[in-house]
Amino acid sequence: RVAGLSKYFDVGGLFQRRGRLAAVDNISFDLAEGETLGLVGESGCGKSTTGRLILRLIEASAGSVAFRGENLLKLDATAMGSHRRNLQLIFQDPFSSLNPSMTVHEIIGEPMHVHHIDAGSGITRRVAELLQMVGLNPAHMARYPHEFSGGQRQRIGIARALALSPQLIVCDEPVSALDVSVQAQILNLLRRLQQDMRLGLLFISHDLMAVRYIAHRVAVMYLGKLVEVAPTDAIFAAPRHPYTRALLDAVPAPEPERRARLVLDGDLPSPLDPPTGCHFHPRCPFATARCATEAPALVADPAGHAVACHNWREIPAWSGLSPALTR
Ligand code: SF4
Ligand code: MG
Repeated sequence: RVAGLSKYFDVGGLFQRRGRLAAVDNISFDLAEGETLGLVGESGCGKSTTGRLILRLIEASAGSVAFRGENLLKLDATAMGSHRRNLQLIFQDPFSSLNPSMTVHEIIGEPMHVHHIDAGSGITRRVAELLQMVGLNPAHMARYPHEFSGGQRQRIGIARALALSPQLIVCDEPVSALDVSVQAQILNLLRRLQQDMRLGLLFISHDLMAVRYIAHRVAVMYLGKLVEVAPTDAIFAAPRHPYTRALLDAVPAPEPERRARLVLDGDLPSPLDPPTGCHFHPRCPFATARCATEAPALVADPAGHAVACHNWREIPAWSGLSPALTR
């Protein structure tokens, strides 16, 4: 349970205006046991920072992250250390996240050594089991990362993340660096492992179709804030926030002329100097005077569909995904 999570950076100096950058700005959401939550948004919106704050790879400026009733952000190093095995990260780049001078056995076995789990042959047995789980040949555990393809390296990264049987894995753009042909295989693997092991996944991605495939719920971020959170089917059938609609409209479609697209004007504003009121108002075709002065709160309906927009009830019905993209 993430509540009021924020990360501010002080930036600027001699040649630049000083300011405070709100990379993550007072966000709250829950992630249930065995649930996959997709976190989407443009690059720079704060998705990766959110994942790293939860794992305490960077320290938050404010807020709390309750994990099984304990606020992770308040734990000292020892107490946090014992939680580490429950909380793992899969990186975007399987090329740079694996130590090239270590064998696969050493890479996957390392977390077990660090947490003093099973010594010796127990580790080898577990590494073999993990390699099998991610679809790699256990006989290849003495090989080095460069001997594997990109997709295989991401499988090694996944095996390493699974080594300690975690409860939550933050997956930060886990397929973005891979060839398109390999992406579906890795998504399938993650989805199967998530189901089999009842893993909680925070699946960070800018790829909406990947998120739709893997996530039970979706959270949309814009300039450090959550603007919409909803069950996956609901958000793809009837997105409420104009920014979510624009993201969906930007998904390449085979027959684009069949849709009335919402195309965003202007660049993503600087998070250093975000617009007043609703951060989205300079780009929003549905903005009213109120939007420039008053920031909308994220409000959920009884079905758990939350949106931060003053006007979502008044704006015209969304024209829908291209028929070719609907299941
Ligand atoms: Fe657009 Fe106003 Fe809604 Fe913001 S609050 S998304 S500016 S309509
Ligand atoms: Mg990122």
